[in-house]
Amino acid sequence: MQHETTVTVPGAGNRQMCIDGAWVDSIDGERFDSIDPATGQPLGSVPRGRAADVDRAVAAARRAFDTGRWGQAVSERSRAEVLHRMAALVRDRRDDLARLEVLDCGKPFADAQADIDEVAFMFDYYAGWATKITGDIPPVGPDAMSLVVREPVGVCGLIVPWNYPMLMAAQKVAPALAAGCTVVLKPAEQTPLTALQMAEIALDAGVPDGVFNVVTGFGVEAGEPMLTDPRVDKISFTGSLAVGRHIQRTCAESLKRVTLELGGKSPNIVFADAPMPQAVAGTCLGVFGNQGEVCSAGSRVLVQRSIYEAFVGALVAESESIRLGSGLDPLTTMGPLVSAAQMDRVRGYIDGAPADGARLVHAGRRPDDPALAGGFFVPPMIFEVDDQRPRIAREEIFGPVMTVIPFDDDGDALRLAHDTDYGLAAAIWTSDIGRAMRTARAVRAGVVWVNDSQPAPSEAMWGGYKQSGVGRELGPYALDSYLESKQIYINLGQ
Ligand code: NAP
Ligand code: MG
Repeated sequence: MQHETTVTVPGAGNRQMCIDGAWVDSIDGERFDSIDPATGQPLGSVPRGRAADVDRAVAAARRAFDTGRWGQAVSERSRAEVLHRMAALVRDRRDDLARLEVLDCGKPFADAQADIDEVAFMFDYYAGWATKITGDIPPVGPDAMSLVVREPVGVCGLIVPWNYPMLMAAQKVAPALAAGCTVVLKPAEQTPLTALQMAEIALDAGVPDGVFNVVTGFGVEAGEPMLTDPRVDKISFTGSLAVGRHIQRTCAESLKRVTLELGGKSPNIVFADAPMPQAVAGTCLGVFGNQGEVCSAGSRVLVQRSIYEAFVGALVAESESIRLGSGLDPLTTMGPLVSAAQMDRVRGYIDGAPADGARLVHAGRRPDDPALAGGFFVPPMIFEVDDQRPRIAREEIFGPVMTVIPFDDDGDALRLAHDTDYGLAAAIWTSDIGRAMRTARAVRAGVVWVNDSQPAPSEAMWGGYKQSGVGRELGPYALDSYLESKQIYINLGQ
């Protein structure tokens, strides 16, 4: 399939952002381009929002909350209906949204379709919760009655990354709206377009003005002002550890509620009794899926020594079947990285690896189509390491780079798995249920997969141990993070 000219895709082109139910430019009129990473060419442009724009958006969200356009003043049932309509509109526009996502962030079309399907499901799922947020009646003796009620936190600043642009946004927007909060969404500078489509869908679904605002722009200009704005009650952030730490520190000043979904360097532990060939395919998917731009990527592959050589050979063979290209080509299984900067960053890790003690065992190939010569492609790479001292075995790369290391026994595997400041995810491959459960319980990570890698059902739970985050998302856990609890004490005495 030809790499499509971008102007024909709904949502590309020159866009405005959505504040208080209206489509607006930034106050100073500045804009910036969003780039198609398969070609390096601009796909459209968006307003460069800054403090004055954030101020407008936060004011709108505050007004919408305080004047009862959403939240407790609106029936739970009508909130649910609006969210169900959003789900339906996402489904109606599924392939256009998926195409836009491919052009903005690079991933293969089938992967983008799966993201959009999950976005639709997420709106339905949290629509269901909107009518099921209940409180409690703790016993306080015969002369009083106590009610614990749940209320929306208020105005939420939602800051998201570029690897699953619409999905990461929905993961925050859907539970926040279901809980009755109003929001200001700041998409990543590299991938702002589907967030704007989500705002259009929200307006079409009947979300009242000011309840859902989107400010496009750069982190320090369009994200930072929300951290210090006293009208913002909560910040929910998904992104890097460095920015997460800065957010936690800055929000401490006003004690805003903070949820942080940060990075990882997750272990993928393959025992000698692992089910094959699922373990081979799952291990590769866990590192190379979504071009390796996955917070929970199982990028540290630990393999029991007795099967080590055969398993590494199988990983190389599996990786050779990965085909790089335009995400719009149905044969493509790996797209470009999101930006030139990300490509350079990942290449820096790869180029520095040999001198750092890592041995290259497999290097894939860039696509040879001349139309993609300007694209930000980095092929899959597999390195062997003897210990976890090399930077590529320690630091989150966010690209298609795997390190493989042998281990001797269960204790050795756990020692290697835990040799990291992160604790987002872990995958365990074994046919022994006892070993699977012992290892799953011992691993210090928020998400553990047994004989699988990367599923993240919206009904379940997501979040990290250690420096991978604070708080939890998905399922009812996300809803909790957008709710406050209030105790009402009623004196029944004479
Ligand atoms: P990032 O640089 O931390 O950026 C994330 C978001 O924060 C972007 O919207 C960014 O704006 C914004 N931002 C940057 N500086 C800010 C500031 N001072 N104040 C407020 N907002 C600010 O991360 P990224 O490179 O986009 O994404 C990759 C990272 O996300 C990886 O570390 C990955 O592990 C993590 N991630 C975690 C999960 C999870 O669920 N745990 C999921 C996906 C990704 P700009 O776009 O302008 O930079
Ligand atoms: Mg882009």
